[in-house]
Amino acid sequence: MELSKNLMEPHLLQAKPEDESALGFGQIFSDHMLQVDYTSEAGWHNSRVTPYENLVLDPAALVLHYGQEVFEGLKAYKGIDGGIYMFRPMANIERMNRSCARMCIPEMPAQEILDHMLELIRVDQEWVPSLEGTSLYIRPTIIATEACLGVKVSSRYLFYIITGPVGAYYPEGFNPVRIYVEENYVRAAAGGVGEAKTMGNYAASLLAAEEAHAKGFTQVMWLDACDKKSIEEVGTMNMFFFIGDEVITSPLTGSILPGVTRDSVLTLCHHWGMKVTERKVTIDEVVAAQKDGTLQEAFGTGTAAVISPVGSIHYRGTDYEVGSGQTGQLSLKLYDEITGIQLGKKEDPFGWVVKVV
Ligand SMILES: *Cc1c(COP(=O)(O)O)cnc(C)c1O
Repeated sequence: MELSKNLMEPHLLQAKPEDESALGFGQIFSDHMLQVDYTSEAGWHNSRVTPYENLVLDPAALVLHYGQEVFEGLKAYKGIDGGIYMFRPMANIERMNRSCARMCIPEMPAQEILDHMLELIRVDQEWVPSLEGTSLYIRPTIIATEACLGVKVSSRYLFYIITGPVGAYYPEGFNPVRIYVEENYVRAAAGGVGEAKTMGNYAASLLAAEEAHAKGFTQVMWLDACDKKSIEEVGTMNMFFFIGDEVITSPLTGSILPGVTRDSVLTLCHHWGMKVTERKVTIDEVVAAQKDGTLQEAFGTGTAAVISPVGSIHYRGTDYEVGSGQTGQLSLKLYDEITGIQLGKKEDPFGWVVKVV
């Protein structure tokens, strides 16, 4: 697949944000985007860099009614040597293809998509911010575009990537979050689509998040759909507990999103010789560990925040404080290690970093 480019006239390029310390998340977009079409006759074709533009969709497009869609989220960073780097981008593309398989969307040629993604970032390299903690967020998306009111597999798709500079997640340092354990709503059930990064999962999570926010909590902790006992995820992050000398995260049972950050944390903990286990961990076990003083740390993992320490867990009317509500040593060490590797400050023994420019 050839990549064609239709770049903006230089005088039409937008001004870059002036104050990189005031960048929020997901509101500013770079000048260009990548688009690739799919038809059942031609397969994936017509890969092109274009100016960032509105999409033209038939109002009957299948994605708008039945949600046949997948997306990804990853970042490009300005390294300490001034180069631009990405972190494990192939892991995201491979996960996108697994999401595609679950959603009956034709898989994409992974290596070509990575090459074209890197080229898009090169075109808009001036948009990669340099202030520590900031990055260029990259959002690949595939939507079903065939016009048809009827639940079926689309014969046409659009793949696109948009990017935009995003701010430091922790401008004032780590802030442990207050978590609400959700027992009425569930995020995903085994056999459903919880392990795919597809839009419906996020629409389905909004009501629980709104209700938790109204009660003063930052995020929802999801339990398994069957017994409401095993801990699955927190918000849109994978969840880890450090109990006694064991680092624990839920196994990938089908209802859990297989996070790239989750995998990186597992790899690093193994590398450091820690006891790390992928096993079910129930809310009862966490509460018991909190009571007997062995619950050292709890944290979420995801691309946006990297590590998000949990300060307290609210379950059935009681707030259980985690490690005196402060950020734990392991959370800090993981955050420093992963961000250090991303920026080229630390050695990259696992070959995670890809140079863009
Ligand atoms: C994207 C996502 C994660 C985190 O995945 P990363 O690859 O680490 O960014 C975790 N849970 C859910 C539900 C997600 O959508």
